[in-house]
Amino acid sequence: MAELTESRELTEPGKPEEPGLGERVDAFVREHVMPREDVLDAGGPAADEALRALRDRAREAGLWALPLPAELGGQGLDLAAYARYAEMEGASDHGPAALGSAPLLDVRMLLRHGSAGVRAAYLPRLVAGELRACYAMTEPESPGTDPFLTATTAVRGADGDWVVSGRKWFTSGAAGADLVTVLARTDGAPSDRHGLSLFVVPTRSPGFRVVRELPVLGASGQWEIAFDEVRVPGDHLVGERGAGLSVAAERLQLGRTLRSLRWLGQAQRAFGLLARRAATRGGARGPLHSHQLVQQHVFESLLALRTTRPLVHEAVARLAAGEDAHVEVGLAKVAAARTLQQVVDAAIQVHGAAGLGPDTPLPALLRTGRAARILDGPDELHVTSVARRVLTAYA
Ligand SMILES: Cc1cc2nc3c(=O)[nH]c(=O)nc-3n(C[C@H](O)[C@H](O)[C@H](O)COP(=O)(O)OP(=O)(O)OC[C@H]3O[C@@H](n4cnc5c(N)ncnc54)[C@H](O)[C@@H]3O)c2cc1C
Repeated sequence: MAELTESRELTEPGKPEEPGLGERVDAFVREHVMPREDVLDAGGPAADEALRALRDRAREAGLWALPLPAELGGQGLDLAAYARYAEMEGASDHGPAALGSAPLLDVRMLLRHGSAGVRAAYLPRLVAGELRACYAMTEPESPGTDPFLTATTAVRGADGDWVVSGRKWFTSGAAGADLVTVLARTDGAPSDRHGLSLFVVPTRSPGFRVVRELPVLGASGQWEIAFDEVRVPGDHLVGERGAGLSVAAERLQLGRTLRSLRWLGQAQRAFGLLARRAATRGGARGPLHSHQLVQQHVFESLLALRTTRPLVHEAVARLAAGEDAHVEVGLAKVAAARTLQQVVDAAIQVHGAAGLGPDTPLPALLRTGRAARILDGPDELHVTSVARRVLTAYA
């Protein structure tokens, strides 16, 4: 199995914390999650049922919630230890949800910035997989790259509750979510650099509405949502009033790094498919792997993978050490997104029409790779932000 060998060799440079854990995560994703991807991609009740069954199986296998805090029911791996498993989990888009690591961003954010009431009410249930959360920052009418223009508002009433009004879109997983964290303006006017705050809102609150689904290149999972004067308890403010963007930035740094690890896992998977096809497909002019132009696809893809992996792990190391990681995370995010797109594209090319058809995961991987260059901030944002930061040292 060329795909497995290459994946293990590259993702386990040192000894895993628990012997064999890497093999078990890898095997779980390949044997149980990947075969259910079509059902999970389609969404709806069948996908919910498939996800439930996978989660039960992950709990039985002792693989549930590896990076979530042990005191809340997770397995307590820190970021540095979890990184190598994140790549394996992420080889399927559905791995993190199936293995219970998907709530990591929400749990970390609420642990650090949630009120005591919010932490007690939601954290154990998020880790147990009884509650699902989503994150709503991007809006239809204002550029996601410029959150200062956020139009959603939250107004504080005399009783201390907040009333949230506005519209968000491309909110991943909103339709099945129990909680939504929303960025809203609490002070000032659109374009002011201050005055934005985060709230965690139960989706059962009157006035919360799922407006429509927004399929991305045919795949489900993204939603437009509306807040029509949704009343939110005062203690559901996340962080200080007006500190929404700094909490969001902290969350995004970790989120981009986790995504980069997962995209590496998917690029590695595509590389395995590319290599196997090249190694096994024959033709009148000899086997596919004997053509130099096919060998070039193999070389360029491997080069992309092996130059991107250290960048991503550098971002992990800096974040884990609590150091400023803006440059490293920006480099890692752009490189991982590009690598995923490049390797999947090469794998499709080497498969010919079969690479675009229904018999391989390549179309779904291509979709993820394309979206990767936009979500969590488009390439251009990271390119300019990294360049500006680096240039200040030379001014
Ligand atoms: C699959 C998917 C899932 C998503 N999930 C979520 C989610 O769960 N929650 C959430 O809040 N959002 C989510 N998003 C939204 C995503 O974060 C935004 O799409 C992204 O931040 C860009 O914002 P925008 O779409 O408004 O693009 P805009 O801000 O309108 O930018 C459009 C384009 O303009 C160009 N551009 C913008 N700024 C610059 C610049 N400074 N320099 C040069 N060019 C520039 C870029 O080419 C950019 O792609 C998701 C998006 C996708 C595709």
